[in-house]
Amino acid sequence: MAGKLPAGMEWLEPIALLRALGLLTGILALAWLLLALILSIRLPGLDQPLSGMLGVWRVHHALGAASLLAALCHPLLLLLASAPQGPAPALALLQPSPEAWPLWSGWLALLLMLIFLAPSFQFFGRPRYQRWKLVHSLAGPAALVALVHGLALSNWLSPVQATVTWGLLGTCAAVAFVWRKGLSLWLVRRPYQIEHVEPLARGIVELKLSPLGRPLKFSAGQFAYLTPDIPGLAAGNHEEHPYTLSSAPAELPTIRVGIKALGDATNALQAVVPGSRVFLEGPYGRFPHDPVVGPQLWIAGGIGVTPFVSAARQLRLTGTHADIHLLFCANDSTRAIYLEELQDIASLVQGMQITPHFFAKEGYLSMDFLRQAVPDLLEREAYVCGPAPLIQLARSLLEEAGVLPAKLHIEAFDLL
Ligand SMILES: Cc1cc2nc3c(=O)[nH]c(=O)nc-3n(C[C@H](O)[C@H](O)[C@H](O)COP(=O)(O)OP(=O)(O)OC[C@H]3O[C@@H](n4cnc5c(N)ncnc54)[C@H](O)[C@@H]3O)c2cc1C
Repeated sequence: MAGKLPAGMEWLEPIALLRALGLLTGILALAWLLLALILSIRLPGLDQPLSGMLGVWRVHHALGAASLLAALCHPLLLLLASAPQGPAPALALLQPSPEAWPLWSGWLALLLMLIFLAPSFQFFGRPRYQRWKLVHSLAGPAALVALVHGLALSNWLSPVQATVTWGLLGTCAAVAFVWRKGLSLWLVRRPYQIEHVEPLARGIVELKLSPLGRPLKFSAGQFAYLTPDIPGLAAGNHEEHPYTLSSAPAELPTIRVGIKALGDATNALQAVVPGSRVFLEGPYGRFPHDPVVGPQLWIAGGIGVTPFVSAARQLRLTGTHADIHLLFCANDSTRAIYLEELQDIASLVQGMQITPHFFAKEGYLSMDFLRQAVPDLLEREAYVCGPAPLIQLARSLLEEAGVLPAKLHIEAFDLL
């Protein structure tokens, strides 16, 4: 939905401004959509400059939202700009005809965007993850149709400029899409065999995996996508889900993953048996920073302890000293997975101490508890990982206590 300014119209006239804004929003909508697609490439290592995968997804989300907003404004502004010429130009924008395919490709792209982005912004409530993923794969076709629309109506650019601009972005987006949906499965995913299944508590197991080919290398606290290839698995077979690698990098080639039953796929994994095959793709993320530098406060809740378990196991195996205070939050001692092992590690790693906090005994984590347990709170870099309510509470307590945003690092086990 583009076009040159009608003859005699100056750019500074209000109508011309509306038209220029209409064109600009169209350009931005397409550019942001393509950039969001490029960011979804999920190439191991590429997430590091953006503070890990969660940083990448945050930018990806923001670009998607901005693109949808711009795509909605684009036809509205052009329709408004055509208002003084009567209803004819507006009706032309809506009239189907074979010659109007460039316009209609724009409407189709907008419709596809609304469909695939609606679940991301939870317009109709929180969707099931796999359904969200399926609908979200319409992003590729939407970008392709939008690109056709942009190329066909970029008559304000020279053919060379249009081909270079949209061609370059479009090619990068297509490469990202093909990589994500096909090539990465062959080139990055590594096969592993389940060696041992260790029950940690009710509904939580730790899988010990050994590589069937080249092992995956990672830093403490990173995560990988695990895809089971287990015929007869009750749910989630061939579905990829992200899990922190709870073992230490020093344990390679063996890898361990702690999994809590939170839904169908994680529930089914509680019952897997040794000898089963899974694939790992990664590593991604950088939480907590490896190696541990300077005084740190770790606040862990529930299964959110896994990145810290990996880092603590690494400290023990490498014999490194570190100034770490781990605030270990659990409902009660029966749900305090890994606590015993972490306490053993703390007795061996110089400078590491642990304060358990049991909700059943102490209630919610409070400022009094935090200040008493960690009096040198403000001197520490803070890392928080756990369920959403704990993250919210810990964040507000730490901010209230005066921890600067730059010293507060949060890992949410939720990418939606
Ligand atoms: C960086 C990261 C690290 C994680 N580490 C661990 C860990 O060490 N141990 C552990 O038990 N869990 C971990 N999780 C959470 C784990 O990925 C989800 O619990 C699991 O995917 C739930 O799948 P489900 O089908 O059993 O449940 P569902 O009911 O389908 O999902 C529950 C919620 O989990 C999230 N989720 C589901 N599938 C995916 C997916 N494929 N990708 C991203 N999010 C998804 C969605 O927000 C969804 O609402 C981690 C998540 C992230 C993002």
